Order: sequence, then structure tokens, then C-alpha cells
Amino acid sequence: MPGHQPTEDDRLTSIKRELACRGFRLSFKDQQLEQQYRKQRVSRGRRYNNLAAFGTIVMFDLFILGEIPICPEVLDLSFLFRFGIATPACLLFLLLDGRKLLGVWSEAALATLLYLPTLFGCLETFAVHHVEALPDFQALPLMQLSILTCGLSVRRAIYSVALACLTYITVTFCRDLIPPAAVPSLVLTDLVIGFTVLTFSSRLDYRQRQVFLFELQSEIVRNMLAVQNATLSKLTRIDALTGVSNRRCFDDTIEDLWAPEQRERDQPVTLILFDIDHFKQFNDTLGHRAGDECLKTLAQTVALCLGEDADKLARYGGEEFAIVLPATHAEAGRAVAERVRLAVQERAIPHPGNAPSGVVTVSLGVASVLPASQQAASMIERADRCLYRAKRAGRNTVVADGPWAAPTLLHRLPQTLLVHPH
Ligand code: GH3
Ligand code: MG
Ligand code: MG
Repeated sequence: MPGHQPTEDDRLTSIKRELACRGFRLSFKDQQLEQQYRKQRVSRGRRYNNLAAFGTIVMFDLFILGEIPICPEVLDLSFLFRFGIATPACLLFLLLDGRKLLGVWSEAALATLLYLPTLFGCLETFAVHHVEALPDFQALPLMQLSILTCGLSVRRAIYSVALACLTYITVTFCRDLIPPAAVPSLVLTDLVIGFTVLTFSSRLDYRQRQVFLFELQSEIVRNMLAVQNATLSKLTRIDALTGVSNRRCFDDTIEDLWAPEQRERDQPVTLILFDIDHFKQFNDTLGHRAGDECLKTLAQTVALCLGEDADKLARYGGEEFAIVLPATHAEAGRAVAERVRLAVQERAIPHPGNAPSGVVTVSLGVASVLPASQQAASMIERADRCLYRAKRAGRNTVVADGPWAAPTLLHRLPQTLLVHPH
């Protein structure tokens, strides 16, 4: 289907199918995999290919030394081919970074470029008029070896070898300077070299493709595992019933805030502990199921009222919740607690056993400490004590403990008690 994005599972299935395919192949059956493989070849093989192309052209140029004593009549032609056409074309390809410039077409360009020595050599042979030039001619198939060790894909290797064999055999038959007795041997030499090169090339291509598939497979599996791990670790930090953070997440947050590098920062941490009023009676009257629903609704209500601080809400245990507010002073913490109390009350979940309001309410204890000078346990203990006082003060109340500026130890706001730390 056009534009269809395969899932990770689809890709893994496709890779497995390709991996199971044994023996000779020109390309992957999966076109997306094939394109990805070709792109990777272009970027990965660049340096190695450029080096091999450079080495081949240097060797090709060196063959001119052999021509000086045995066939001086083609020296002009040879010089023009080598230094006027082949070498500049090769250097241009290397200097302009042809592999990058031409992308997936660069292999075809490289194969053509590397076929030039064979073509020129064969053309030269037409111009030679004596049999001593043969050793030079015989060197041409050998050039194919170095050409194909460039690591061209098997397609390009076939293309290059076939072209070279054709040219070579054509020259062998058309040029009567080669003694008829030597023709079979020359043709056979060329065919054997062509066959060897293709075998080598297809083995190399097969192995490179297998390595590519294994690497891709492990990359996909690694990515899938990373996503699964992230999901799992998120799940281990979430309370299954209410969907807010769980006790483990709360403990980790506290541990992080009391880590040495955090503790150095002179910022107070405020903890709000709150508990549903008369919740046992809620269960007894309306049933445990309704109790569960109530816990869910309450957690959603509080998270909503906390806005961007919603992730700071955790289920501390049973019907008790906690809100950890880093870098928050006592007064700001108290204001948050009051907002939570009101939000729960206004949500008006019916609770017949909770007089006088008849709706679900919560009692809250607030404690604020400086991690540099006090332990987390002391903060929790103080918040818990405040919560206990809120219950005793009639429930649906906030009791806050902090370094208040007011000299009075205790004064009462409409639903809030402020106490000084002990
Ligand atoms: P107080 O106002 O003093 O907090 O009274 P309370 O009845 O809320 O406190 P108590 O500790 O006596 O009872 C807590 C109740 O919370 C008892 C328990 O069954 C209920 N509870 C704790 N966890 C869950 C839960 O996951 N689901 C339900 N439905 N109830 C729970
Ligand atoms: Mg309770
Ligand atoms: Mg309780």
C-alpha cells in the first residue's frame, strides 16, 4: 500500500524472512529494506571505495612502463587515455566526492569508471601490430580483480565483469595478431577470472546484506525494548486504581530531593498529606466498589486542581494521599492544601456518613522543611501530626506546620490551623 508505514513488528518479520533466504540474490524482496541497504552502502563504503578507485587508477597508469619497450607505437594513445581521460575522470570523481554527490547512482558511475582501463587496454590492442604486446593485454582481466575488490554491489559487479569479458573476447576474436592457438587460453583466462570475481563479489554482497539485516534487527529490538522498559518503569510508578503516582514514586521523589546535590540548594520542600474523612463508613454504607470509584474521582479532582503540579500527587496508602512540592514555602504549600480541600468539597461526592456536609471531604496536614537541615522522615512525621490534628479539629480542615512569621503559636483561619514547628 503506498504511504503505508510498516510497524516495528512488520519490519522484524520482513527482516527474518530475508535472513532465512539462503544463497544468491540480487536484492532484498522488501523494497524499503533494499533502499535502506543501498543508502547505507553509499555512506559506509565511501572511504574504502574511494581508496580502491584511487589504487586501481594508479596501477592502470603504471602499466605504461611496460608499454615503453614493447609497443612504442601506441604510447601517444596510451598517454592520452591514461592521463588525459581515465586519471582526470577518476580524480574528479574522488575530489567532488562522487559517492555523496551521486547517491545511489554513484556505484553505477564507479563501475563505469573502473571499466575504462579494460576498454582502453582493448582499444590499444587494436592499434598494436606485434605479438609482444600480449602480456600487457593479458594484464587487463587482472585489473578486474582490483576493480571488484572496490566492494561494488553484486549487480554492478555483474555489469562490470560482463562488459569487460565482452570487450576482451571481442578483441581476442577480431584481432588477428593473437595466434589462434593462444585464443582458447586467453578466453578461458578471462572467463575464469570473471567467474572468480563474481563468486567473490556475490559472497561479499551476501555477507554484507546479512550483517546489515542483523544490525537492523538488533537496532529495532533495542528500540522496542527501550520503549517497553520506559512503559514498564512508568507502570511501576503508577497506582493501578487511581492512575496517580504510587508510594514507590513518592519515595523516589523524596530520595531525589534529599540527594546530596539537591540538598545543597537552599530551597524548602513542602509536603501535604491528606486523608478522606470517615472513609470506612463510606465503604460500609455504599460498598467497597463505590469506595474504589470515590478514590478514583477524588484523585482526578485533586490532580485537576493541581494543574501542572498534578504529577506531584501520589497515593500514599489506602485512602491517604501526598503532594510533594519542591522549592515551595510553607505559605504557598498551605494555599495549595486549602485549594485541594475546597476542590474536594465542591466535587460533592455524596457521603451520607460524613456529617455535617454529607459529601466526601478530606483533612490535610502540611509541613515545610529545608532538606539541608532536616531529614525527610521528620517532614513526613510533622505532616502526619498535622493531619492528625486536622482530624481532631473536626475534619475537612488544613493544619499547616511551618516557620510562620506570626509570633502566635496557633491561630485559626476559617478551615485552617497554623502551628509552629516543635
Ligand atoms: P478518618 O476520618 O479518621 O480518616 O476515618 P476513616 O474511616 O477514613 O479511617 P480508617 O482508617 O478507620 O478507615 C480507612 C478506610 O479506608 C478503611 C479501608 O477499608 C478504606 N480503604 C483503604 N484503601 C481502600 C481501597 O483501595 N478501596 C476502598 N474501597 N477502600 C479502601
Ligand atoms: Mg480516613
Ligand atoms: Mg487513613
